[in-house]
Amino acid sequence: MKIFCIGRNYVEHAKELNNKVPKQPLVFMKPPTALTFDRDIPIPHFTQDLHFELELALLISKEGKNIAENDASDYFSDIGLGIDYTARDVQSACKAKGHPWEISKAFDKSASLSNFFPKLNFELDKIHFQLKKNNKVVQDGFSSDMIFKFDRLIAHISTYFTMEVGDVILTGTPAGVGPLAQGDKLQGYLNGELVLENYIITY
Ligand code: ZN
Repeated sequence: MKIFCIGRNYVEHAKELNNKVPKQPLVFMKPPTALTFDRDIPIPHFTQDLHFELELALLISKEGKNIAENDASDYFSDIGLGIDYTARDVQSACKAKGHPWEISKAFDKSASLSNFFPKLNFELDKIHFQLKKNNKVVQDGFSSDMIFKFDRLIAHISTYFTMEVGDVILTGTPAGVGPLAQGDKLQGYLNGELVLENYIITY
């Protein structure tokens, strides 16, 4: 399996990191070793600025390549939440040099996923998701605010990569990203229901 991630898919988040809104989806990937369902997330030793990014996650259920946007909804079955853990200081250094940013985004346990739920349970353009850090809401997202919607993301990614059953797409984070410290508790809510809980620990 592979994890596709989308950068800058919410206008307010692009602004908070001083990035332009992209004209087409910005895609990067995480390897299977990034995936975790563990509760505890260790702060990697190479960063002083680990950030959370809560995102809607899609589970790919059908193999495909060059998928048309109109057909894209046939290719995912389930929706969940994911936290795209990011070594922001490392990412900023990579960006400044024009280097790939994988080492800041694709490290072990950098993709924490909830369980998945059938998409039939959702109105796709009305999904609400929230992240609480230490019991305080820090991110409040609505699928309707995505610049590129689910179908467009699948069409775009499959232009370049074969989608395989079990692949996951993290669809971008809304505004409110921020730093983490040892002992922080993160709780992800999908349409009001707690589905993801992480604790930040040191190695
Ligand atoms: Zn992200």
